[in-house]
Amino acid sequence: MPLGKLFSRGLQAQSDTAKPADETAADQPVPVDRIGLLDTFEAAGLGWFWATDSENRLIYLTDTAFERYGWSKPELIGRPLTDLFSLAAEEESERTNRPLAFLLGARNTITFLPVRVAGSAEPMLWEISGKASFDEEGNFLGYRGSARDVTESRDRQRDSERMAQYDDLTGLANRRRMDMMLGNTLASYRNSKRSCALLMLDLDRFKPVNDTYGHPVGDELLRQVAARITKIIGSKGEVGRFGGDEFQVILPDMDDRGQLGELAQRLIQMISQPYPINGSRLVIGVSIGVAVAPYDGFEAADLVKAADLALYAAKGGGRAQYRFYSGEMKEGAKRRRQIEEDLRSVLDTDQLAMHYQPIVDAKTEAVACFESLIRWHHPERGRISPGEFIPVAEDIDMIKPLGEWALEVACRDATAWPNDIGVAVNISALQFECDDFPSVVKKVLAETGLAPSRLVLEITESVFLGGSDRTQRKFEQLRKIGVHLALDDFGTGYSSLSYLRTAPFNKIKIDQSFVRGCTEPGNNNPAIMSAIVSLANALDMRTVAEGVETKDELELVVGRGATHIQGYIYSPAMPQADILERAEKGELTFEAQGPARYRADRRTVFRRIGVIHEDQRYRAFVRNLSKTGAMIEGLEDVPVGTQFVVDMGGGQLTVATVRRSRGPIQGIEFESPLIDDGADGLCTRHRVSPYELEAVGRSLSALPDDALSILFPRSEEPDAKRAFREVETRAPA
Ligand code: C2E
Ligand code: MG
Ligand code: MG
Repeated sequence: MPLGKLFSRGLQAQSDTAKPADETAADQPVPVDRIGLLDTFEAAGLGWFWATDSENRLIYLTDTAFERYGWSKPELIGRPLTDLFSLAAEEESERTNRPLAFLLGARNTITFLPVRVAGSAEPMLWEISGKASFDEEGNFLGYRGSARDVTESRDRQRDSERMAQYDDLTGLANRRRMDMMLGNTLASYRNSKRSCALLMLDLDRFKPVNDTYGHPVGDELLRQVAARITKIIGSKGEVGRFGGDEFQVILPDMDDRGQLGELAQRLIQMISQPYPINGSRLVIGVSIGVAVAPYDGFEAADLVKAADLALYAAKGGGRAQYRFYSGEMKEGAKRRRQIEEDLRSVLDTDQLAMHYQPIVDAKTEAVACFESLIRWHHPERGRISPGEFIPVAEDIDMIKPLGEWALEVACRDATAWPNDIGVAVNISALQFECDDFPSVVKKVLAETGLAPSRLVLEITESVFLGGSDRTQRKFEQLRKIGVHLALDDFGTGYSSLSYLRTAPFNKIKIDQSFVRGCTEPGNNNPAIMSAIVSLANALDMRTVAEGVETKDELELVVGRGATHIQGYIYSPAMPQADILERAEKGELTFEAQGPARYRADRRTVFRRIGVIHEDQRYRAFVRNLSKTGAMIEGLEDVPVGTQFVVDMGGGQLTVATVRRSRGPIQGIEFESPLIDDGADGLCTRHRVSPYELEAVGRSLSALPDDALSILFPRSEEPDAKRAFREVETRAPA
């Protein structure tokens, strides 16, 4: 059918609307010109015209369309338009939700409607427009319309939308998308009172790896990390990357802290496995912060802040750890900032002191050397542990001056000890990495006059991340100086045995986490210890078992062949004056003193708790705590068999039964066991939901610390009316 015939009516109609009817004939240019124009348009392939009959079967489609796609006319002409086109999926949901047949049947005008072209091998998207056409009597003639191929431009648009929402490097959702998803999830979960967990992950020591091996290697590492996280999370949640070395995981309908802890632990384990990249074997770690809505925050921003604080606490806890958010963390972040500030000027004060812990010969119990452990007495905050402030010093570039101070004091003090006793000094990996480190050691030895063979430098496995050539050169320089080297905390970090062959260590220190619990039945630490000891023997190295506290641990580690012992069983770290006093009396042999057995499951704590019994709330304290029970103090004469609800703070509620009772002290058993909180402590698997607080008239917000005293207020009734009497308890000194 000729185009002019088909479209003249449509064209006419168009000009009808544009101009008054009586002017039409005179002003109208010759129709042939317009048709010519349309021909040119069609021939150029800029778009196509199409037409249907009154049954909406295709009766016309521009020739160039047939040519372009290799269609034949008999194939298409006469077929219902609805067979040829279907609404593109997104159109169906977004715009009309009505099938094309409906639009055509209603004779609706179609404007730029995206449709899928049926039967094309590759997915093809057209945008069609069309108008119903009628004769003078108003009979429907069919549609007249135009179309163009938008497949490519749509793809391009989709790509750029994708790019705006996904991370180029790893293909994971980016921050924008994660923020959006978290916001949407939390908003929609609010009505249905559902929970949602958020994990913030930050790689440990990614920066040095990236700096040492270069960005392409760093990029590949990030890709592999992303793949490992995605594999672990699977369909349980959504994984995103926030740029840099930060990742985030959203886990809908998840508030079980037992499962969350296990998941976090698995992520830490998997991410810490070595990455073979470009012939290098790279190792990094990861720290994880966990927050759960609605307990720790309702709005996305609050939940992210909570997870960030938890991450911060995990990093501060020595890395490769996870933490659940708790209200105290806000305090923790403040405290860290204060430590940072005070640390900057600490060397100008006399708040630092060096203490020394004996490392004892396993056979003779004579001191072989003292390990220097730095102590900070803060005028307001009291004692701050090096485990807390050394990582801060590393972060704020204070570790070099601090480390040099420590080295100098330790070497000077050691010159006053008997000549056969060495001094071990802890060296941070960052300090070790400084180019001038060997010359600093040389200088300190020269200034203090300590024999180099009496100095042991304790370094950790993380020094091997700094690039092997440089590290090797440094070992060589130190060997020439004549100092000894000990590998500290062995087994906690990257535990690659390969570098033990090349690095000139004299001693391996088996980390105390292997000693702790090693006497429990079924524990495989003793086997690991034996392996480390025989490896060390083969390489002619000594072994120190760290953190030995009890007689049974001592027996076991000596039995496994450790050559040296360090731990509270012999002595904690002591000031220089005490050593000098002992040396004077010739008492440099130590005697093992400590409990016979270690109760791995018991933790000594002193924590205020609430005890709820028959709608009455009492104050009490926890003396010690295990997963299955606790010793509490503060209520007089509670009969065995009494059931309590114990409020451990922060919405943590657990049902318990009194199993033993003597005066103000009861042994209680929990109905469901506590779980590890990632910080060496215990917590309940579930918490009271803020929705329950809302039900008693509190406005909906994250869990307040005293959540349960709102649900179970302490009654003002006189003691006589209450089942139990509260007694005064005092915190241990
Ligand atoms: P480390 O080098 O592994 O030191 C051993 C830690 O275990 C010390 O903690 C010590 O007091 C503790 N310990 C010893 N025996 C026992 C025991 O039987 N049971 C238990 N539970 N713990 C025991 P401390 O003094 O808090 O030091 C913590 C860490 O801080 C050290 O771990 C070391 O990495 C770092 N550090 C301490 N002083 C310095 C220093 O002068 N420079 C550097 N760079 N780091 C230091
Ligand atoms: Mg040490
Ligand atoms: Mg250690």
